[in-house]
Amino acid sequence: MNDRKKLIVGNWKMNGSLAANQDLLQAIRAGIADLDAAACTVALAVPAPYLAQVQALVAGSALALAAQDLSPHEAGAYTGEVSAAMLKDFGVRYALVGHSERRQYHGETDALVAKKVQRALAAGLTPIVCLGETLPEREAGQTEAVVRRQLAAVIQLNGHCISEVVLAYEPVWAIGTGRTASARQAQAVHAVLRAQLGAASSHAGRIRLLYGGSMNAANAAPLLAQPDIDGGLVGGAALKAPDFLQIIAAAC
Ligand code: PEP
Repeated sequence: MNDRKKLIVGNWKMNGSLAANQDLLQAIRAGIADLDAAACTVALAVPAPYLAQVQALVAGSALALAAQDLSPHEAGAYTGEVSAAMLKDFGVRYALVGHSERRQYHGETDALVAKKVQRALAAGLTPIVCLGETLPEREAGQTEAVVRRQLAAVIQLNGHCISEVVLAYEPVWAIGTGRTASARQAQAVHAVLRAQLGAASSHAGRIRLLYGGSMNAANAAPLLAQPDIDGGLVGGAALKAPDFLQIIAAAC
């Protein structure tokens, strides 16, 4: 047993509308009314245009607000970017950084991800750094090398501040595919990451490591029972209140 508080993060990706968000939040709020906030945290990573709406909808509840990305720049002539300070203005507590969809479709490199982590930390946000191998990389036996390389870049730029981040191990082949890493596969990678963190920080034992990749109501409990899995990053299932609530119940 450890004293890391479980963290469940719903990643809405590019989904939602004013009306749909209202309905979803109403159902989630009702479902977590008795949540033991001391036992776990639940956060929602929503599209930037809905931050103000969701900030109002989660007010007074145990839900925390998260962003899906942030700019590596502080401010200025960066059209289309959203800064860490702007996210803070809207009560954002966590920010996803380096999600595989950003790495894959927007060319985000390890160095850029590390810079975004630095920017988030400087603004007082908690970055949730996403790492994970593709299917060809797993099949080639490169899983450990890939996640170690991705984490090393973040450690190199952020030094001892690494103890302030959350990591999310998300095998790319499991995201949105309905294929989940087994609890054993996920735990094995989490243990590698924990050991690497241990070499960089004396506080590695308090860093939360989430699993993400087709987590659902049926597979959440065995994954969350692993010693180095401290929560989940949930995509598709976070858009359906009953499914999301069952995942939360498995964690809390
Ligand atoms: C994600 O978006 O980070 C994710 C894990 O998605 P899904 O749960 O749909 O696989």
